[in-house]
Amino acid sequence: MPTIKEELDRRQLLYSLLMPVMNLYVPGLDKGKGLYFLFVKSETRTPGGLLARPVLTSYYKSDHFKTRPYDPYNVYTSPNEAILCPDSFQSMYTQMLYGLLDRHQVLRLGAVFASGLLRAIRFLQLNWRQLAHDMETGSLNSKITNPSLRECIVKTLKPNLELAQFVRHECSKDDWEGIIVRIWPNTKYLDVIVTGAMAQYIPTLDYYSGGLPLACTMYASSECYFGLNLNPMCKPSEVSYTIMPNMAYFEFLPHEPNLDATGFDFTNELPPKLVDLVDVEVGKEYELVITTYAGLCRYRVGDILRVTGFHNSAPQFHFIRRKNVLLSIDSDKTDEAELQMAVENASYLLREHNASVVEYTSHADTKTIPGHYVVYWELLVKDSTNSPDNNTLEQCCLAMEESLNSVYRQGRVADNSIGPLEIRVVKNGTFEELMDYAISRGASINQYKVPRCVNFTPIMELLDSRVVSAHFSPALPHWSPERSQ
Ligand code: AMP
Repeated sequence: MPTIKEELDRRQLLYSLLMPVMNLYVPGLDKGKGLYFLFVKSETRTPGGLLARPVLTSYYKSDHFKTRPYDPYNVYTSPNEAILCPDSFQSMYTQMLYGLLDRHQVLRLGAVFASGLLRAIRFLQLNWRQLAHDMETGSLNSKITNPSLRECIVKTLKPNLELAQFVRHECSKDDWEGIIVRIWPNTKYLDVIVTGAMAQYIPTLDYYSGGLPLACTMYASSECYFGLNLNPMCKPSEVSYTIMPNMAYFEFLPHEPNLDATGFDFTNELPPKLVDLVDVEVGKEYELVITTYAGLCRYRVGDILRVTGFHNSAPQFHFIRRKNVLLSIDSDKTDEAELQMAVENASYLLREHNASVVEYTSHADTKTIPGHYVVYWELLVKDSTNSPDNNTLEQCCLAMEESLNSVYRQGRVADNSIGPLEIRVVKNGTFEELMDYAISRGASINQYKVPRCVNFTPIMELLDSRVVSAHFSPALPHWSPERSQ
């Protein structure tokens, strides 16, 4: 994405509004610190010699961030040296260490997306012994080799037996429910985006945080920052983002969600006209089109938004989904929101086993005829003596099919063009490996999102090598020809 220097000022402007808004709802945030897991990635150059790096890396490396003036509302536990360390293990380790040392001062915990915060919790699960050792002895793990990082920590790290014992006591328990508030007892909310594709993480975050409020503060992309949530403590399902008209020139492509059962979109015979920011209508869905200061012209971001209201004259939008079809075997088209809903509906059946789906992805398997949907699930099983059995997981397959759209069910029932849906349960930690793999290939930790559909052979091989059991839908879902519903 092209960008220009002055774009940093615009991003800074949006960031600078977040805490004044939050302060309206959560007082006293100037009396403590924020534990944010923020990361940079290494930079590359384009063949033409331009610097190329993820948008957040360019922000964290900018003077706007590095030499920001002291602001009591924006004090982080992580020093710049930890955030700016390009080695992701060393960066995460030291950010966690600082977060633990300051545990009583932490008032909010966050990462850019929900997946990043869960990755930090997982990191704590894997590394608490060494972290506790460092706290007890006042010496730093030898894996932290970055000189400026070492220099910075050595000044702060003093032996603290009491803290080390506390961390050991909490982390060695089998049950990690509510671990966030146990370790950081003054946390008022989690600052992570859980709208759109990230909604999947809400139950897991609730589990680890004991149900702390989840604040989705802003809506942004590499192309352009769009706007902020003026009611950040609302429920995730009610989040609306107010577009800031000075971020870019915004236009909207009317989006018709109603597809005919054949999969053809008869509503779009004529190219729809672009609507200006002031002319959008409440209740309607649009695709976002931007013209940016940095040079994108009428660029389709790929996000579908629904207008929920106005703040003065600025429209507010609910994020619906990214405009992409995830899965298709025949004329069926399943998007991210439908798949998410199907997983949610099916996972209700896991409740009696006290289990939940922590991560999922999917693949349209067309190697066999007819092809079928494969959904990979990683489960959180809280009671290993009552883990979900084959029958339950088969019923989950069917429940997913029941949730999918009528074109899918028609393919299953009437056309026999789609085979029974399959759930492949993968080993714990598989999605973590998937993320490691993506990062090793150049993805950014901050901006990483679990792909909800995978086709790339090495990733498929990785997933398939971690499968512990496979289950197929045992029956046909409901479908009747009279009404397409
Ligand atoms: P990237 O440029 O890789 O950071 O991705 C930007 C995309 O992430 C946006 O176009 C959205 O699809 C998604 N995204 C960013 N912020 C939010 C948000 N607050 N809620 C839902 N999706 C978001």
